[in-house]
Amino acid sequence: MMKKIITLKTVTHFSSTLTLLLCSTFAMAQSIPLNKLTGQFDEKKDSNYIALDSTILPVNKKGMYLQKEPTEQLIKAYNDFKKSYSNIPFIVVSATRNYTYQNGIWQRKWDALLPKFNNPQKIAEQILKLSSMPGTSRHHWGTDIDITSVSSEYFKNDKQGVILYQWLRENLPKYGFCQPFSEGRKGGYLPEEWHWSYKPIAKQYLAEYKAILDSNPQMIMQNLNFTGYDKITLESLVKEYVLTVNPDCY
Ligand SMILES: [Zn+2]
Repeated sequence: MMKKIITLKTVTHFSSTLTLLLCSTFAMAQSIPLNKLTGQFDEKKDSNYIALDSTILPVNKKGMYLQKEPTEQLIKAYNDFKKSYSNIPFIVVSATRNYTYQNGIWQRKWDALLPKFNNPQKIAEQILKLSSMPGTSRHHWGTDIDITSVSSEYFKNDKQGVILYQWLRENLPKYGFCQPFSEGRKGGYLPEEWHWSYKPIAKQYLAEYKAILDSNPQMIMQNLNFTGYDKITLESLVKEYVLTVNPDCY
């Protein structure tokens, strides 16, 4: 009799532990909604986002948004930079871009390349050197920004660009930023000296994106409907371009 009771207790305990474990796994998987991972939302209506033109940060256009925490850290970095280099431009030239916005970029580039290549896979590969497929951009996450110029030439050969890039590499990590598209990766986008990512939040987005790609990639794929999506090696391109980032950003 005694033995039976213990066994029953053990089973009950085991099953409640399992329930807890399953619940917490489920909660973890749900902590960033899928539409936030793929940019299918309106950052302008999200209370966790702030308009950069309402801050002291210089911007090259109105209506760019970023999550609040990266914005606060970026302002600190900007103030720090300006103490040493008041005459060198430090301008946010891109911040959050949602799926609809990214789709506009994709479509424009697709249309421009179509006469030259006339092969969906080749067109996609050309665009992907520097631009993302809608639904796969780190700019969807509200954690990533482009600074001053989107030309490698500027950061390599312009006197001010060289100083800026050296400062960004030495100092932005102190404020939580990493450079996802660094030199020397084996795949993904070409190096982008201008693109910086607020790691404490972006690494959670990346981890969740990766978990879905590893376990149930269709969950992502079924939300992608940009021009050419059904004529390219979609899943392998998504995996390559989302996951091949600087290990510092994981
Ligand atoms: Zn960028």
